[in-house]
Amino acid sequence: MKHSLDILPLQSWINTGDKPLIIAGPCSAETEEQLVSTAHLLANTGKVNVLRAGIWKPRTRPGEFEGIGSIGLQWLKRAKEETGLLTATEVATAKHVEEALAAGVDVLWVGARSTANPFTVQEIADALKGVDVPVLVKNPVNPDLSLWIGALERINGAGIKKLGAIHRGFSSFEKTAFRNEPMWDIAIQLKTIAPELPIINDPSHICGNRELIPYVTQKAMDMDMQGLIIESHIDPSVAWTDAKQQVTPAALSDLLDNLSIRHAAS
Ligand code: PEP
Ligand code: MN
Repeated sequence: MKHSLDILPLQSWINTGDKPLIIAGPCSAETEEQLVSTAHLLANTGKVNVLRAGIWKPRTRPGEFEGIGSIGLQWLKRAKEETGLLTATEVATAKHVEEALAAGVDVLWVGARSTANPFTVQEIADALKGVDVPVLVKNPVNPDLSLWIGALERINGAGIKKLGAIHRGFSSFEKTAFRNEPMWDIAIQLKTIAPELPIINDPSHICGNRELIPYVTQKAMDMDMQGLIIESHIDPSVAWTDAKQQVTPAALSDLLDNLSIRHAAS
């Protein structure tokens, strides 16, 4: 399969030295206190580059918490000012892109449900024209490599060269140990097709529970993925979304200490 991606190496837009890029933070921004206190604990580990938090949440069914909305962008801004961490959030519409950029969010990501919809991806791409911001594209919910590459091409086509892919696993009809099957082969194929494209692993959404996270994280490092995005909450058991898979900042720090990393990310 051919592709036409024109991208800059990860280290030219986020210098992580010889370590993988670490993005961590709660699934959702819930309250200012929850986000800012989690950010401080993560920053204090000295191991996190970017603070993540969902502001607008794509929920499978209505009637659940759908994100705190625009106000959360101000909390991200405060967390950044106080901790020095870069910030990242999910964008799914042109309005999200405009608001996130206006609030100074450093990294945007396209969620798995959005990647599956070319109209949505094109809307996001159009809103990014003329903007210089790193964008990470999650794999689509379904195991379709072309759809993933197509979304990367649309964002790249808008002029975004600070581009990366997030491997968050694929939904399957069969119930397995994973919330989303990793289907590592698809990530390997992407790496083969576009070796220069950074791939960041999201063990949280692959696993759906805390217990499997060390195994998936190690496997991602063994495959030389260039980074990790891991959900971390100050008190995971009471998280408003994805409570089963979030880890405390202390647990995240232990997890990272226990990883064996073969060689430096490039
Ligand atoms: C998230 O990162 O919290 C999220 C909603 O992820 P995904 O798009 O991978 O389901
Ligand atoms: Mn989540």
